[in-house]
Amino acid sequence: MSTYYSPTWTHIPDNLSISQLMASGVGDISPHKTIYEEAITGKTVAYEPFRCQIRQTAYHLRHALSLQPGDIVSIIASSCIDYILTAQAVWWAGGIVSPINNSLHPDEIFHALNLIKPRFVVVDETVYDKLPKALERNNTSCAIYTIGGIPSTEWPPLPLSQSSDTKGYLELHTPITITGFNSKATCAAILLSSGTTGAPKAVMLSHYNLVAACFQLRTDNPQNWRGSQREIFFPPLSHVYALYVCFTMNLWLGAYVCLMPRFDVKLYCRLLQDRSATLARIVPAVARVLAESPVAREYRYPDLEYFSCAAAPLHEETAGKLRKVFPGVALCQTYGCTELTGPCVQSGVRDKDLPLSASGTLISNTGIRFLDPDGKDVGSRGPGEIICRAPNVMMGYMHNVKETAEIILEGGWLRTGDLGYLDSKGYLYIYGRLKELIKYKGFQVAPAELENIIIQHALVEEAAVIGVWSASQDTELPRAYVVLREDLRGYSNAAVLQEISDFVSDKVSNYKRLRGGVVAIEALPRNTTGKVLKKVLKDKAANSDKER
Ligand code: AMP
Repeated sequence: MSTYYSPTWTHIPDNLSISQLMASGVGDISPHKTIYEEAITGKTVAYEPFRCQIRQTAYHLRHALSLQPGDIVSIIASSCIDYILTAQAVWWAGGIVSPINNSLHPDEIFHALNLIKPRFVVVDETVYDKLPKALERNNTSCAIYTIGGIPSTEWPPLPLSQSSDTKGYLELHTPITITGFNSKATCAAILLSSGTTGAPKAVMLSHYNLVAACFQLRTDNPQNWRGSQREIFFPPLSHVYALYVCFTMNLWLGAYVCLMPRFDVKLYCRLLQDRSATLARIVPAVARVLAESPVAREYRYPDLEYFSCAAAPLHEETAGKLRKVFPGVALCQTYGCTELTGPCVQSGVRDKDLPLSASGTLISNTGIRFLDPDGKDVGSRGPGEIICRAPNVMMGYMHNVKETAEIILEGGWLRTGDLGYLDSKGYLYIYGRLKELIKYKGFQVAPAELENIIIQHALVEEAAVIGVWSASQDTELPRAYVVLREDLRGYSNAAVLQEISDFVSDKVSNYKRLRGGVVAIEALPRNTTGKVLKKVLKDKAANSDKER
């Protein structure tokens, strides 16, 4: 068994909760420094007042809501300071944070809550309309509280502290942990991911995983992780990208983050300029927009040092264009996944030699191996399926021993389902995906989830969903191949296919829609054991898209 190890190693404390790490801070952080701002409302909070609010809110959670260590709190809201305050206070009070995407369809929220079974659900006005439907069929009893600017007539506000004053206020002075706290065995966060196969599952990340990711990231590229950095952050707070950036690293470093609830090119570019951003954390589809949109050229970015692109493959052509439009700005990448608490590979600001198609080098304390399709080792540099062992490998999937055993192999090796290889300098290149997962603009779309919906349509007998590449948008789009009911075969009537597409749109969140189209097919290609050969469909899609 040949393993390639990252050249760097750092000591990771194995007895710290994530709150204890946050309380320590990385260095000398000015108490008055603004650390979070809301792009839309202009609300800001400074470092020390925010830390007071965390302790006071944790007190309320413990005493007014009787939150106990180990209680799960799901947060379904748009990006705002109170979201981060809630998460930090839950951790401080010993609870588990489960951020859920607020753009999910009510049925998807129902499935998420049913899987995670939180004791509390914290929502904002973006989900007030959806929640009753999501809770209708839910047989778990959870208490609902609200955050954000618009109060609800149905649910009470979460007792958040907005005070920066510790005098006279009741607070929990030290973070609560259970007796005999073991940071490797205590879950801190639960995120949704479909992993290498099937429908979304609940990824359990321990305190140790979160603490480790902070240490690993900073060890390799301290230049990329400084308290003086300033950034505008638009990905949803429910994504692992936000977990390690906004919830942990930035607070630990005392760095400034401006929170945007969604990407808007004009506002984003204006904020990059006006807030003197030093880094732009992006996804490939946004890289494309910035490289091509005239709006991006209306502003000046004298402080911008680097782009950090993650969450999906960045194509060489887009990377090249971005470098041309922003000549003095370094282009860094991060590769990883939710099951790894985020990062596995990153490139640094000073990594001037990084080839455009490489993702970067392994972060510290990480071992990597490559497997062939039969699961056999193919050497320490690949090419093959990337598997890695590191302190940031998740605890496992909640209530799902079977799928945990399929993704975490003996010895703690995590199957990423991604295909890659290492070059002689230790740069990792991702060239494909073995797993079925589709990434639409950085968002996960699980084919199995869509297939289960499509086959509920009365006119469909079978369905298979794959991702097709859209060069114009720099993203994959979900496409369904359907076998229609026998009496309809041969018709492939456009109206029928549109109806199937609409049927799906009504049942899923916007980003999961069948933007790649619905195509009628006589029969799904299968191997001798009956498994659908998605590779054949992918080749078919690539050929027919080429002909257009
Ligand atoms: P998520 O768990 O949502 O972060 O999705 C993780 C998956 O996104 C990975 O397993 C890859 O398939 C893909 N991905 C993330 N970052 C990159 C990257 N830099 N290059 C290529 N694919 C990526």
